[in-house]
Amino acid sequence: MLITPLASSLFANFCILATFVFIAGMLSKRYVPAGHAFSLLGSVNAGLLFGIFGIVLMSYSFPVGHHTYANLRHLTIVLAATYAGWLPSLICSVLLAVSRVLFYQLNYESVSAAVSLLVSGLGCCLISRLPWDRLRKMTVSNLLNLIIILATLVNNLGGWNAAMTIYPVQLIAVLGAGLVIYYIAEYIQRSNELYSQLQISATTDYLTGLHNLQQFHRYLDLELDRSERRSEPLSLLVLDIDHFKAINDTYGHPAGDAVLKQLAHRLRSHSRSYDYVSRNGGEEFAVLLPDCSLAMARRAGERIRSAVADERFTLPSGQKIPVTISIGAASYPQVVEEASGELLFQYADQALYEAKNSGRNRVVAAQAAHMER
Ligand code: GH3
Ligand code: MG
Ligand code: MG
Repeated sequence: MLITPLASSLFANFCILATFVFIAGMLSKRYVPAGHAFSLLGSVNAGLLFGIFGIVLMSYSFPVGHHTYANLRHLTIVLAATYAGWLPSLICSVLLAVSRVLFYQLNYESVSAAVSLLVSGLGCCLISRLPWDRLRKMTVSNLLNLIIILATLVNNLGGWNAAMTIYPVQLIAVLGAGLVIYYIAEYIQRSNELYSQLQISATTDYLTGLHNLQQFHRYLDLELDRSERRSEPLSLLVLDIDHFKAINDTYGHPAGDAVLKQLAHRLRSHSRSYDYVSRNGGEEFAVLLPDCSLAMARRAGERIRSAVADERFTLPSGQKIPVTISIGAASYPQVVEEASGELLFQYADQALYEAKNSGRNRVVAAQAAHMER
C-alpha cells in the first residue's frame, strides 16, 4: 500500500507525541501525586520537558504544501496548559519560540512562527487559569491555536487564498491528533489518579487520615531494622481512649467519630514531625518514635496524655466533653532486646493494659510499670 509522505510523517509526529504524553504521565505519577498541585520546581521541569518534546516534534515536520511544513509542536503547549498549568505552558512556548529562531534559518517566517508560539503560550496560559474541565480547556486551547496557525499562514504566504490551499490539511491533522491525544492523556491521568487513590486507601485510615494498621506494621519493621543497623533506640506508644463506648452510647456514633478525628489531630500536633502516628483500629492508636529512649517516650506519652485531658473535645452538637486516654510504652532495646516488632507491640500493649487496670488516664512504661503515676 502506498503511504504518502504526508500521511507517514503525520503518523510519525503523532506517535512521537503519544510517546511523550506517556513519558510525561509516568513522570507525573512519580513526582506529582494526583490531586496535588505542581510545585514551582515541578512546574519549571514540566515546562522544560514539554518544551523539549515540542522541539523534537519541530524536527519531524510534515509537508502540507509546496515548501510549507507543519508539525504538532503547539499541542505540547496545549497539553502543558491543560495538565500542568499556566507556568509550564508559558515556559514551553518560550522555549519553542527561542529554538524556532535559533535552530532554523533566521528569516521573516521564523520570527513570525516564534511570535505565533508566544501568542499561543499566552493564550493557553489564560485558558489554563479558567475554572473549566480539561476537555473544555484542551478544545478551546486547540481552537485558539488553529486560529493562530491560520493567521500565521495568511501572514507568511501573503494572503487568504494561498493559506487556504494548505490550511484544511493542517486543520484536520491538528483536530484529529488533538482529540486522540486528549483521550490518551485522559486515560493516563485517570490511571494515575486511581493509582494514587489506591495507594492512599491502602495506607491511610479513612476517618482520621492517619496511617492505618498495615502501614503501621510496615513502618515498625522498617524502623526496627534501621534502629538495629544504627544502634539507636526505638520506642512505641500504644494509646486507647478511656470509656469510649460510653461516649458513643451517650452522644451517638457521629460524636464518637468527631472525638476520634480531634484526637488524631492532637496526636499529630504533639508528636515530632518524623514520628509515625497511626490508628490501629477502633479507638486504638499508636505512635512510633524513632531514635527515642524509653524515658523520652514516657515524657512524649505524658505530653500527649495531658494534651488530650487538659482541653475538652467538641462534639458536632457544639457540646464540649472531657476525654482521656491511657498509654503503654515500650522500647527497643531497653525493654525488648530483640529487634522484633511483634514483641515490641506486645510489651507496649501489656503496659497499656496495666495503665487501664491502674485507673486509666495515665502512661505506663513497660519496664517500670509498678512505678508509674
Ligand atoms: P476502655 O476504657 O476499657 O478502653 O473502654 P472502652 O469503652 O473505650 O472500650 P471498648 O472496647 O469497650 O469500646 C470501644 C468502642 O469503640 C466500641 C465501638 O463501638 C467503638 N468504635 C470502634 N470503632 C469506632 C468508630 O470508627 N467510630 C465510633 N464512633 N466508634 C467506634
Ligand atoms: Mg480498645
Ligand atoms: Mg477504649
